[in-house]
Amino acid sequence: MYEICEYATGYVAFKVIPLFTSSFDVAVVGAGIVGLAAARELIQRHPSLAFAVLEKEQEPAHHQSGHNSGVIHSGIYYTPGSLKAKLCVQGAALCYKYCDQKGIPYKQCGKLIVAVEQDEIPRLKALYERGLQNNVPGLKLIGAKEIKEKEPFCRGLMALDSPYTGIVDYKQVAQSYARDFQEAGGTILTDFEVTNMEMAKESSAESEDGDKWNFNVVFCFPQGEEISCGHILTCAGLHSDRLSQISGCSPEPRIVPFRGDYLVLKPEKSYLVKGNIYPVPNPRFPFLGFHFTPRMDGSIWLGPNAVLAFKREGYKLLDFSPGDFLDAVTYSGLWKLVLRNVSYGLGELYRAFSISAQVRQLQKFIPEVTTSDVLRGPSGVRAQALDTEGNLVDDFVFDGGSGAVGSRVLHVRNAPSPAATSSLAIAAAIADEAQRRFQL
Ligand SMILES: Cc1cc2nc3c(=O)[nH]c(=O)nc-3n(C[C@H](O)[C@H](O)[C@H](O)COP(=O)(O)OP(=O)(O)OC[C@H]3O[C@@H](n4cnc5c(N)ncnc54)[C@H](O)[C@@H]3O)c2cc1C
Repeated sequence: MYEICEYATGYVAFKVIPLFTSSFDVAVVGAGIVGLAAARELIQRHPSLAFAVLEKEQEPAHHQSGHNSGVIHSGIYYTPGSLKAKLCVQGAALCYKYCDQKGIPYKQCGKLIVAVEQDEIPRLKALYERGLQNNVPGLKLIGAKEIKEKEPFCRGLMALDSPYTGIVDYKQVAQSYARDFQEAGGTILTDFEVTNMEMAKESSAESEDGDKWNFNVVFCFPQGEEISCGHILTCAGLHSDRLSQISGCSPEPRIVPFRGDYLVLKPEKSYLVKGNIYPVPNPRFPFLGFHFTPRMDGSIWLGPNAVLAFKREGYKLLDFSPGDFLDAVTYSGLWKLVLRNVSYGLGELYRAFSISAQVRQLQKFIPEVTTSDVLRGPSGVRAQALDTEGNLVDDFVFDGGSGAVGSRVLHVRNAPSPAATSSLAIAAAIADEAQRRFQL
């Protein structure tokens, strides 16, 4: 078992920790931005308790938290009163404050959501009203002339201007949360895949509190060794349904992986884009549409699309996992989703293979962009919860279960975008819930 112990050179150095130290009050499964933010919040609230974060990869933020658009969302899109709306608006403010405190670079470069067709204007106006209801700061509707003033190469009939939107490197933010957690006395164990959760047959004889260490997590490295903990919080992203299932809680909603591929604008064309430029989203899907996003390193990413993936952690176009594929195709919810959206799904699949089809989408906003100006870029895979009726679960979902194991577990079941923006606010909500359920 390894513990991360070196920061200055990134998360590359490990020290072996002896197994007899492996008893914790609370173990958090998943060192993505949500798990790390929650672990940090919990240890700050309960400094006398022992906390561990268990991560199957060799470094934190290896999956969604290290493969995303890097946008600090302002909270426009989300249903007023929903957790997403509340926690995004709070989370963006907390994110800016945290980055200021820690010296993490970010840019509040703003965003335009641009209507290029007349029939998008009513939806754009509805988004503006929604943003106002969600208390998003600084929103205004602007016309074609002001669009040109802000984004000289962008065309559009009307746009929603969100100056509060920004960009940051969420991997850097997650690593900073990890550092806070460890400095407060928390342990991060990498290469640690949680494969089972079960009650120990008997409590530790040494334990003063006979109930304290009677919950075991069995993991697969190095082959079936165990740690003990009182309670578990799972923040397992693309595997959140599987973690729920192994704890005896419901496997539903299932996770459906949607890969998002980016194109990258060639550096000599970066002048075409100043801030974030987004389309008016399709109201049937929670994804925000193919957009132009500046990155902290000065590059411009274009995308991502949303293609049903055949591997949960598959970042390449043709990645395939028989187990993940079988899981997906045997889920009735997926078939209902697919049958309702055949043409949209096929369109996205076609665009995933065809750069020129993707560029045609971009040209609606910036006609100067051509296929010779773009290169294939990285990809991310979204963990999107899907219910048995084939509906994409829109809001953040946290739940637990009943029974010996289920009552000691809290699962983050659905934490898609804007969960990176919202991570500090989600962490506070999770810590409140963990305190209530686990009586910490
Ligand atoms: C393409 C894309 C673009 C996005 N853009 C944005 C954006 O611009 N702004 C924004 O706010 N959000 C964005 N998001 C969403 C955001 O990235 C995610 O909501 C957020 O990163 C979720 O964090 P997480 O910690 O829940 O999941 P993850 O980062 O996926 O972390 C889960 C962790 O759990 C670990 N794990 C899983 N199973 C086990 C196990 N059995 N044992 C041990 N460890 C396990 C995994 O290895 C992983 O490290 C985007 C997401 C994607 C994919």
